[in-house]
Amino acid sequence: MRYYVLDRGDQLSVDLSESFHKLAAQQGLQFDAKSPDIVVSIGGDGTMLHAFHTFIDQIPSIAFVGVHTGHLGFYADWKADEIPELVSMMGGHAGSGFPKPRMVRYPLIELEIQKKSGTSSYICLNEFTLKGVDGTVVAQVDINDQMFEMFRGDGICVSTPCGSTAYNKSLGGAMIHPSIEALQITEIASINNRVFRTMGSPLVLPKHHHCDIYSKKEQNLLLTVDHINLPMDDLISVRCRVADQKVSFMRYRPFPFWDRVRNAFLG
Ligand code: NAP
Repeated sequence: MRYYVLDRGDQLSVDLSESFHKLAAQQGLQFDAKSPDIVVSIGGDGTMLHAFHTFIDQIPSIAFVGVHTGHLGFYADWKADEIPELVSMMGGHAGSGFPKPRMVRYPLIELEIQKKSGTSSYICLNEFTLKGVDGTVVAQVDINDQMFEMFRGDGICVSTPCGSTAYNKSLGGAMIHPSIEALQITEIASINNRVFRTMGSPLVLPKHHHCDIYSKKEQNLLLTVDHINLPMDDLISVRCRVADQKVSFMRYRPFPFWDRVRNAFLG
């Protein structure tokens, strides 16, 4: 098995990364920076976002595993002191009594950006957001080519089920089990009064629906794709839908989503 390790860059993560390589060599795992079968992220959930985007062109052929240097995360289900056990399982040399590894596949969002200066496309693991840089965002939201609402406010967040526990949650969105192929649209501080009106509630769209967000004035916007910031001063529109491709995570032991949620938010 070919593997790659991406760490957060802090001393602890770098040290853990080095000890991972030593253990991996003992298990006969092969380091491959170009086309690994498994990418291990060591750091936090944020590090997994970096790992995902580093290998964005190979998503169909890669499975991710996360090690957390602090508390357990949504993408990082192994603790630092469990690395020997993880490497053993990756090498297939773990003792009896361990469950068989399982690959889980979770939905992503694809977005097509149209600017006066050209088009581009992205895939997100957590979410994308469109925010105002120097004032209120004015944007028309269409669902399945029908005008839905005219949005005025700080911005709009569109999240995957995996990202529903991240920024989306801070915005009052629902937490969605990642086995559900959907995207969720949440508002960031919308203006609602006698003149301006938005739905106000988060919207959950199924896989076969799409949403277009049209910029409705000359405005400086910031489009974020997970941790990536893309300033936009000539945006025409963003089209988004649940992507055809999915992200794969290798589960060497069970850690159900609702256990993660309880663990992260209720302690
Ligand atoms: P960051 O601002 O350094 O970290 C944001 C926090 O979000 C970290 O604690 C991170 O966990 C956590 N996180 C990331 N993905 C998550 C997930 N799927 N479920 C639950 N928590 C998650 O930024 P970053 O590390 O570059 O991560 C970018 C992400 O930050 C964005 O995708 C967005 O979801 C999130 N964000 C949240 C808010 C908010 O809640 N108000 C605002 C902006 C951005 P770790 O500590 O384990 O890395």
